[in-house]
Amino acid sequence: MTSLRLESVRKCFDETVAVDDVSLEVPSGSLQFLLGSSGCGKTTLLRMIAGFVAPTSGRIFFSGRDVTALPPEKRNAGMVFQNYALWPHMTVAQNVGFGLDVRKMPTAMKRTRIGESLELVRMSQYADRSPNQLSGGQQQRVALARAVAFRPDLLLLDEPLSNLDARLRLEMRAEIRRISLELKMTMIYVTHDQHEALSLADKVAVISAGRIEQLGTPAEVYQRPRTKFVAEFIGETNFVDGVLGGPCDADGFGIVSSNLGSLRAFIPERLRRAGPVVLSIRPEAILMHGESQNTQHGATALTGRCIDSVYLGSSAQHIVEVRGHRLKISETNPTGGSLLGTEVHFRVIADQVIAVDG
Ligand code: ATP
Repeated sequence: MTSLRLESVRKCFDETVAVDDVSLEVPSGSLQFLLGSSGCGKTTLLRMIAGFVAPTSGRIFFSGRDVTALPPEKRNAGMVFQNYALWPHMTVAQNVGFGLDVRKMPTAMKRTRIGESLELVRMSQYADRSPNQLSGGQQQRVALARAVAFRPDLLLLDEPLSNLDARLRLEMRAEIRRISLELKMTMIYVTHDQHEALSLADKVAVISAGRIEQLGTPAEVYQRPRTKFVAEFIGETNFVDGVLGGPCDADGFGIVSSNLGSLRAFIPERLRRAGPVVLSIRPEAILMHGESQNTQHGATALTGRCIDSVYLGSSAQHIVEVRGHRLKISETNPTGGSLLGTEVHFRVIADQVIAVDG
């Protein structure tokens, strides 16, 4: 098993700084996501790890070995691309065996390895087909089998599911998680899809303008975003400006006065000083009620008017106007009756309100 370490890695293309001073440690056997919007530098970072692009500065280590100057074929990293990149003139088995031919593996061993790899991705019965006789999901499975067949030290995945439809994406997400657990292989997975990152990752690096804005487990980046950018990128949220009054309690909660009234919120240590703060409140941190409730368990009770409402079956998304704010509220298990234009009562759950860097 192989760990990965990036030390102040930077890549400039003329004037463009694509990757800016990125340092990252990925323990062996873990599934690390690089998550960010288009153009943030995540593919360039992945290509530097693979060896296709040389860093302008900084160093890359595989299990403590400096590979910065090594060409791709000396790094033993497998790669899965967005567009599958299968050879159309080769059968499925020949595609999977390609990396083994390059490594001059003896025929009998190669046959076994191809069989094992196809079995891993549940494609054994398609060994003799041509890639163009397969669906998109099946082609992506073959691409995965090809990338793991030579037992790479690292598996690098570049938006592997973005060409698949929603149902297949879900199915392949589960497959990738299973394969990651089965092979215990260190994987670096690039995507702009936060659901993919939240559902699969051991750790997520949220990238913006070539820099890691936050690194953490899916729950950490979702529940404890450091910045407005991360809070917004990783899911829906509401931002409310306020002023932190007195000191925080032992658990890090303080009272913030805002247009919505006094809100109890988690204040990260770096922001624990009296003064202006920005609060992030997830739509599901606001609970709807048929009638106004007294403040309980640190929750703040509020009333507003529903100005937009979308029924989604298992949930409904409402926009509620309250004291000059338009709050997004997510209601689980809605009754289905329209709330549009009506007065609604709700509570803000303090545990899920957090101050972020503006
Ligand atoms: P996407 O999700 O759209 O692929 P990305 O986050 O992977 O985006 P990169 O492809 O890494 O982003 O690009 C980061 C920045 O570097 C962009 O501004 C891009 O235009 C620039 N860039 C990437 N490759 C090159 C290149 N070969 N020459 C010049 N500029 C490049």
